[in-house]
Amino acid sequence: MAYVIVSPCIDLKDAACVDVCPVDCIYEGERQYFINPEECIDCAACEPVCPVTAIFAEDAVPDAEKEFIETNKNFDYPA
Ligand code: SF4
Repeated sequence: MAYVIVSPCIDLKDAACVDVCPVDCIYEGERQYFINPEECIDCAACEPVCPVTAIFAEDAVPDAEKEFIETNKNFDYPA
């Protein structure tokens, strides 16, 4: 499992999550940040620091935001 960043991040990009992630697996996209599910260690550190509640554990993503599970997975992460 991994954590997922969903729609409230779009055009806000607060980035508080980036500072607390111990494995630096949160990447900046054009309009939002994304979590690389291959690198996320499920520590949950990012979830409470997001000021707009845009971060959820994959199995807790609200139904209306489920498309972001794929969006986070499919972002073009640096190799
Ligand atoms: Fe990083 Fe932990 Fe959040 Fe995963 S759950 S993105 S490892 S801070």
